[in-house]
Amino acid sequence: MAGGGQLARMTQQAAIALGVSLRVLAAASNDSAARVVADVRVGDDRAADDLQAFAKGCDVVTFDHEHVPGDHIRAVEASGVPCRPGADALRHAQDKMVMRERLSALGAPCPAFARVPASDPEGFLAEFGRQHGWPLVLKATRGGYDGKGVWVISSPDEERDLLTRGVDLMVEQHVTFRRELAALVARSPYGQGAAYPIVETVQEGGICVEVISPAPGLDGDLAAEAQRLALGVAEKLGVTGLLAVELFETAEGGLLVNELAMRPHNSGHWTIEGARTSQFEQHLRAVLDLPLGSTEPTAPFTVMANVLGGDDPDVYARYFHVMAHDPGVKVHFYGKDVRPGRKIGHVTALGGDLAETRERARHAADYLRWGKR
Ligand code: ADP
Repeated sequence: MAGGGQLARMTQQAAIALGVSLRVLAAASNDSAARVVADVRVGDDRAADDLQAFAKGCDVVTFDHEHVPGDHIRAVEASGVPCRPGADALRHAQDKMVMRERLSALGAPCPAFARVPASDPEGFLAEFGRQHGWPLVLKATRGGYDGKGVWVISSPDEERDLLTRGVDLMVEQHVTFRRELAALVARSPYGQGAAYPIVETVQEGGICVEVISPAPGLDGDLAAEAQRLALGVAEKLGVTGLLAVELFETAEGGLLVNELAMRPHNSGHWTIEGARTSQFEQHLRAVLDLPLGSTEPTAPFTVMANVLGGDDPDVYARYFHVMAHDPGVKVHFYGKDVRPGRKIGHVTALGGDLAETRERARHAADYLRWGKR
């Protein structure tokens, strides 16, 4: 797995049970996954030579992020090591404009969008705003994550600096949504597909803070439509491995695609305890072209809450309260240095009562961050 973050770290947990030897290409020997994987190569996964040296001898290469350049992936494939997902599929998770154009061509529902031209961007935005209404959403087509690279603007010149900085930008209609959902599916090279229950994701300041599975009160037909949509996109784009489709449930009750990720996804961390097969195991099964595992839930509700860094880096001191307070809550830490606002771990609660299960996850996550409630 190229990339040494928490997704690779949690993939290692699944690899252990499967008896699969995971090699990781990490940027540094103290990266989240590098701390727990025996076979670590330290290098730059965006550098062709480092990627090629790392891939040599692997049965298959996969990724814990979207940032490996397509040409380098193609070079690895040309050397005889399959990459899953492949470069042609991964493009759609690397470039939001490429994704929007392709999904629209496939008839998948998307917000109105356009590329922002280099000449007279303000005039273009003014016209787009006249057609679709204000505010608008500006997005860097590449390189954004956790809301970095997304700007909501109320007038054409609100981000004038950005418009002149030479960043490739697209603009989208600002969607009024009821809530955000995510559809997580896996697809193997053989062509088998598997879909997890549709979840609700709750974001604060562009960062996902909570995931509820299944999305409470979601209409059964709409849930099935979201699963079909994600399986269809995985098939049409030739995705191998996991595909997460981030969705908006609009005020009118329809679905719009926000974006795609082709790797284990934050919206799927709940599956470690909340599904028969965790997303990390499923990703390994899919990229190794093994039969996929059951996505059956293990509880009526599973709630995952991300733990963000607070002011006090001594998180471990707070384990005592959290574990004594609720022996059913599961704590996951990523072995990352604590910085305010940084995702450093997550907690999961399972239960039959939604409000209570949310409260248990919330309490544990807040306490781990702040040491109080
Ligand atoms: P990132 O790649 O940083 O995750 P996203 O494209 O997922 O960026 O956008 C981050 C968040 O911004 C979304 O989760 C959503 O809350 C909000 N957002 C993105 N696009 C739109 C839109 N067209 N209308 C309204 N809100 C949006």
